Amino acid sequence: MLPPRRTRTIHVRDLAIGGTAPIAVQSMAATRTRDVPATLRQVRILEEAGADLIRIAVDSQADVDALAEIRRQTKARLSVDLQENYRLAEKVAPYVDKLRYNPGHLHHHEKEKPVREKVAYLVGVAKQHRLALRIGVNAGSIAPEYDLRFGDDHVGAIAQCAIDHCAMVDELGFVDYCVSIKDSDPRFVIDANQRFAAARPDVPIHLGVTEAGMPPEGIIKTRIAFEQLLSRGIGDTLRVSLTLPFDDKGREIAVGRELVRDVEAGRFRSVPPNFFDGLNIIACPSCSRVENEKFIELAEDVKRMSEYAREHKLTIAVMGCRVNGPGETDDADLGLWCGPNFVNLKRGEKELGAYPYDAILPRLKQELDRLIAERQARRA
Ligand code: SF4
Repeated sequence: MLPPRRTRTIHVRDLAIGGTAPIAVQSMAATRTRDVPATLRQVRILEEAGADLIRIAVDSQADVDALAEIRRQTKARLSVDLQENYRLAEKVAPYVDKLRYNPGHLHHHEKEKPVREKVAYLVGVAKQHRLALRIGVNAGSIAPEYDLRFGDDHVGAIAQCAIDHCAMVDELGFVDYCVSIKDSDPRFVIDANQRFAAARPDVPIHLGVTEAGMPPEGIIKTRIAFEQLLSRGIGDTLRVSLTLPFDDKGREIAVGRELVRDVEAGRFRSVPPNFFDGLNIIACPSCSRVENEKFIELAEDVKRMSEYAREHKLTIAVMGCRVNGPGETDDADLGLWCGPNFVNLKRGEKELGAYPYDAILPRLKQELDRLIAERQARRA
């Protein structure tokens, strides 16, 4: 039995989230939204796997048109992920049941306009169309002012950003919202969500470990966070983000349900204390922005290739697009972000060049070897 949750109940069409409602399990289409047949196929795969809610990203008018067509062909509950282009909210609102905005992305467009006005616009759209809202804070795209204010207190920055946005939405008299605070490190996810839940015990929480990567490590990282949070009564809905071939995306739902069942039954999987000591590969789960489907295969190849370095405490990040890829790889020792024909290689924040898909692995190995050799030389 899970401890009682104290959050209020919100509704995404007929789905209750929060309060005493069962924990909802959701996922996201990994395909390009404008590819209607492929995205509909994703929606069906996720629906058949039992998804309570399916998120689809929109970036452009072409994506909005595609979403309208997808809506015509499915009855699934849909949530839209508003990337930087938050003004698309009014265009997609008739086709979806929930809007998700990322506070960090509101700074990219119309820089002169106060964030509060942008939030008021989004709340206005949600009210008009009777949609639920998610304030989705992501550690990889935190608004610059929080970075400045909190310095090294990274968890403090993401938790406070969520708390501040809740206050803005509250002031606008809107209650049908939930919050997510995601990071690729499950320890930060636990800390940030605990801090948020202590400050706002009334707000339903969507749990997630972002860029968890491929199974089994991606599942283990997610379990570490969800077991700790769900067992404390924190978490009303969740998504397991895994880097998987598009046709296997239903596994995110199966893993999410199994995880909830296990925690409810008191079945916890222990993780050795040295789990975080060795090589860490983070990889995005893909979304409508993915530039080349080969990205999934590449992530698997990187994992295989780097197996020899598993004892080394290094992070390799593999990201699927040029929009979030450059920023989300900054904190990794080695980062790859994928374009349509080339893969960009970075060492920390330094760009090392772009390489064709069939040439990137040996180049990455070269950098990995160099990094290991440098560290060993420093220790000698
Ligand atoms: S890195 Fe790009 S493709 Fe991957 S999930 Fe993020 S936005 Fe989507």
